[in-house]
Amino acid sequence: MHDATRTVHHPSVNEEGYASLTVPTHRASTIVYPDAASFFARKHRGFDGYTYGLHGTPTTRTLEAQLTALHGGVRTVLVPSGQAAVTIVLLSVLLPGDKVLIPDQVYQPVRSFCEDYLKPRGIDYGVYDPLIGAGIAELIDEQVKLVWVESPGSNTMEVQDVPAIVRAAKAKGVLVGCDNTWATPLIFKPLAHGADFACEALTKYVGGHSDLLLGSITVADLSLRETLKETLRGFGVGVSPDECQLALRGIETLALRLAHMGKVSEDFARRLARSPAVETVLHPALPSCPGHEFWQRDMGRSSGVFSIVLKPVPHAVLEAALSALRVFAIGASWGGTRSLIAPLAPEGDRTVVPWPHRGPALRISIGLEDQDDLWNDLDALLVALEQPAAARVA
Ligand SMILES: *Cc1c(COP(=O)(O)O)cnc(C)c1O
Repeated sequence: MHDATRTVHHPSVNEEGYASLTVPTHRASTIVYPDAASFFARKHRGFDGYTYGLHGTPTTRTLEAQLTALHGGVRTVLVPSGQAAVTIVLLSVLLPGDKVLIPDQVYQPVRSFCEDYLKPRGIDYGVYDPLIGAGIAELIDEQVKLVWVESPGSNTMEVQDVPAIVRAAKAKGVLVGCDNTWATPLIFKPLAHGADFACEALTKYVGGHSDLLLGSITVADLSLRETLKETLRGFGVGVSPDECQLALRGIETLALRLAHMGKVSEDFARRLARSPAVETVLHPALPSCPGHEFWQRDMGRSSGVFSIVLKPVPHAVLEAALSALRVFAIGASWGGTRSLIAPLAPEGDRTVVPWPHRGPALRISIGLEDQDDLWNDLDALLVALEQPAAARVA
């Protein structure tokens, strides 16, 4: 063997006795076969076998299996983002002439996708009141093939009666997909309530460190997994084992992070509700949050994201108060270790239930900083917002 050949043939080494607690990062495009017969027969390996790096390596399979177990499903499909988790379900299920129902508080890019991508291709969508519950039955006609739920809505926090919506959809033979990003499978398991697709933006709590983009779709029916994988194969979409490795590291601390963030977010929500600067607090654990009773019945625990609506305040005052924050960072895409605040503009996204508030809304995501440092920061924000108008002029 000449050197040039040696440089591309890696020696095999002894792995006996090597045991580690970490999941190795298996990167691959090509998968090689022990003989020609195996290559000819590769189709029979199916989506659980290894045929091409795009369709999975042991690293991606480990994350899939872990999410499947947490959701109580049969298989999980990984995609490059949370948004892709939603759109891949829509693209896999809907054909021209079909229709999907989405809730009015849905993650905004999903609504845009329905309007700008699906509609011109002959796939219709309808928007419903997130609190419609069993009333969804009246909107399910022959055309509807999928009902989408997002509970709670990740901006305005309405908690949906998912079991009632699933029952109504099932009675008409319609599939249900659930964006479960706020709850994660530790707080809510959509498949256990009869949903067909449990979608997560792993970008948020599973990743947990604001450094990866990844999404997952878990199903309880093998044939739905085939459909999803065929869509991904067609589009040529796969995920990087490096992202999956980061998600596998993040998921190890998910339970502890969520427990802490949930406790702090509930505590802060109650304190914020007492501030004169605050009009209302939209936290699923508070009775002031639409659908609170469904949270109480179906979840009972919180993650770290909630929203507040402020009393009307001049924009310049709000801007200055937000810019003065020292511990909270200003930004979207929550779920990491840093606490975030993001101004919202929900009124523009509503078409069925008009947004009832006049003052500005803020979404708060609790991270892992010291609780007192966080509260002092929020308190300074409230004080700045409470200054009487006269004092502001002076
Ligand atoms: C962030 C988010 C998404 C999108 O996730 P990306 O990974 O950022 O694409 C989808 N749904 C909800 C509820 C989200 O919060």
